[in-house]
Amino acid sequence: MPNKNEKTKSEKEKKKTKLDKKNNKTKNEKGNNKTKSEEELKIELDAKYSKYIKYVAIAIVVLVLITVIAVLNINRNKNINKDDGITKIVTSFYPMYIIAENLVDGASNVELTNMADVNVGCLHDYTLKTEDIKKVENADIFISNGLGMESFISKLIEANQDMDVIDSSAKIENPILDEDETNPHIWTSIDNYLKQVQTVAIELKRLDPGNEAIYEANRRAYIAKLNRLKNEFKNQLEYLKDDRAICLNEAFEYMGRDIGLQLTSIQTDHEESTMSAETLRNIIDMANTQDIKIIIIDKNDNRANAETIANETNAEIYALNSGLTGSLDKDAYINAMKENIEILKGVN
Ligand SMILES: [Zn+2]
Repeated sequence: MPNKNEKTKSEKEKKKTKLDKKNNKTKNEKGNNKTKSEEELKIELDAKYSKYIKYVAIAIVVLVLITVIAVLNINRNKNINKDDGITKIVTSFYPMYIIAENLVDGASNVELTNMADVNVGCLHDYTLKTEDIKKVENADIFISNGLGMESFISKLIEANQDMDVIDSSAKIENPILDEDETNPHIWTSIDNYLKQVQTVAIELKRLDPGNEAIYEANRRAYIAKLNRLKNEFKNQLEYLKDDRAICLNEAFEYMGRDIGLQLTSIQTDHEESTMSAETLRNIIDMANTQDIKIIIIDKNDNRANAETIANETNAEIYALNSGLTGSLDKDAYINAMKENIEILKGVN
């Protein structure tokens, strides 16, 4: 960097050159050719000087651009691989873990952990544990279901502000509203699940570009499998379209909509399985009046209410798999949906 004196000096020189130029011009106009070689030398020097300034300016611009790009890149990847070269990915709960498991398979320097225990099931009314915060504290990426399923998300972000959060529900259209609350159990619709997988894959590729090719290959393979499952589901269960069903677990609202079932008496407290005697009576009356044949519950739900209804109506219980818990097999979601196809194929 030039010091102040040098700067002033060069500015003076510049002014002088300008003045000289002006003088020369006037002289030339007067037709005085006596000092021509001297003038030419000055013009030449002047041109060289401005050329030099141009090069310096270009160099400064290039340097500034390089610095800006580097800073942007650092910010974009936040703390990924910052400390130990490992990309630590934490999923909120089981369905997200199965998605991530399929996408990170074979990726290098990736560590995948599930925050909640596999047998926790739904994160409704979930209270964060000290271990949960610990798992998230060193995470680079957190994969959430979204739509309010992780009501505690702000506490996790507070614990680790450098962590990138992927919201798998970002591309979900037409979420179902239950009494002003969005039903977050979107993955029971294979269509929705496909969108969740796509969103997580796109974000993983962006946040961990070192493994981009693997994420992309895994995405393609998993999407292909899921599309086959979607067709099988549609073809086998098409005959249920427009059938009425009592739904005692709101997790199946999205699956029911995919099939075209007309769900009624949707219970939004699937974890408590409490129902007043009056509500039960009303459901039984309605089931008899409308000749409803199907009662849908989760295979892990308390069956008591469903059995009371079934005993007093022509309806039968279909205990489905909502994919909220199960084996850690990569194909766990696909197997759960195939299980549901088999169960629902039995509806007369
Ligand atoms: Zn739930």
